[in-house]
Amino acid sequence: MVKTDIKSLNLSELENLIAEMGEPRFRASQIFKWLQSGVESFDEMTDISLKLRERLKENCYIASLKILRRLVSKIDGTVKYLYELNDGETIESVLMKYEHGYSLCISTQVGCRMGCSFCATGLGGLIRDLTASEMLAQITTAQKDQNIRVSNVVMMGMGEPLDNFESSVKFLELVSHPKGLNIGLRHISLSTSGVVSGIEKLGDYNFPITLSVSLHAPFDSIRSDMMRVNKKWNIDALLTACREYQKKTTRRISFEYALIDGVNDTKECADELARKLKGIMCHINLIPVNPVKENSNKSPTKTKIIKFKEWLTEKGLNATVRRTLGADINASCGQLRRKEGGEG
Ligand code: SAH
Ligand code: SF4
Repeated sequence: MVKTDIKSLNLSELENLIAEMGEPRFRASQIFKWLQSGVESFDEMTDISLKLRERLKENCYIASLKILRRLVSKIDGTVKYLYELNDGETIESVLMKYEHGYSLCISTQVGCRMGCSFCATGLGGLIRDLTASEMLAQITTAQKDQNIRVSNVVMMGMGEPLDNFESSVKFLELVSHPKGLNIGLRHISLSTSGVVSGIEKLGDYNFPITLSVSLHAPFDSIRSDMMRVNKKWNIDALLTACREYQKKTTRRISFEYALIDGVNDTKECADELARKLKGIMCHINLIPVNPVKENSNKSPTKTKIIKFKEWLTEKGLNATVRRTLGADINASCGQLRRKEGGEG
C-alpha cells in the first residue's frame, strides 16, 4: 500500500481523510497544526488519541529531512544545508539573515531539467520533483536547527518551480495558511527561468508573491546559448507573458540578470534590456555570475558591474546589484550537492 503524504494535504483534504477514518472533522485542524509546525512523528501529537495516531501511522507518512551537512559562513552567518530526503536523494537550502529577519532559499526539485549552461544544478538533469511537504520541511528543519523563525522564503534553490507546478502552488497555499507556518505570500518570491505556460497559469491564482524572472540577456541569440528554455519560449513570448501576469496581479516583477564577462555585460545589452522592459513595472537584480568549475564563465569586474547598473538607471530602470552572502561557503545552490557526489 502506498502511504499518503499527509503533510502535503490542505485542511479540507485532511478533513476528508480524517472523516474516512470515522473520526470527527475538527481533529483535522489539530493534526494540521502539528504537521505544519514541523513534527516528525505521529507520537509527538500528544492531544490525538493513541488509536487515531496508530491509524495515521498505518496509512500515512510525514515527510522529513535529515541534515547531512551544515556550512556556516564566517563572514555573515549564512547557513547552507545539504538535506537528505526520505528516499536518500539530496537537496540544498540556504538560510540568510537580513535586518528584517531570516530568509530561506528553498529547492523545488532534485536537479533540474532546464539545463542552463551557467548553473550547477542543471548539469545533472532532473531526478525528481519535490512534494509540497518536502518544500515545507526545508523551512521547519532550518527553524528547528537554528531556533529561529523564517520570515521570507525564496523559491530560488535547486529546480524550476514552474516545472513542478502543482506542488509549488500547493506549497504556497500551505505555507501561508494561518494555521500553518503563516508566512505571508508578500514575503515569498518564486523564481522561474521563463516557463511561459507556468507563468500564464500562475497569474490566474493571483497570489501576491513576487515573481522573479531569470532573464539574463536581452537578445535571443545570447539567451538561447545560456538557457535552452529560450528556444521554446523566446524573449518576446516571455515578456508578453510577464505583461499579462502583471495585468492580472498588479505586482511588480523582478528580473534576474547574472552578469557574465564579455557575454551579456555590454552597453548594447543594457540599452536593449531597457528597450525590452519598457512598460513593465519591474526591478532588475544584477548578480555577478558565480563561476562553476564545469564552464568558463567569469564575473565582470566590480567597475564593469557598476557601469552596467548605471546604464540601466540612466534609462529610468530600477536596478540593484545583489549583495553576495555566504561567499566563503559557495552559497549559491547546486554546488554543494555536486561536490558531495549527489548528482545521480
Ligand atoms: N529555476 C529557477 C530558480 C532556481 S535558479 C530559475 O532559473 O529562475 C535561481 C537563480 O540563480 C536563477 O536566477 C538562476 O539563473 C541563477 N543562477 C543559477 N546559476 C547561477 C550562477 N552560476 N551564477 C549566478 N546565478 C545563477
Ligand atoms: Fe534549472 Fe534554474 Fe538552474 Fe536553469 S538556472 S538549470 S532553470 S535551476
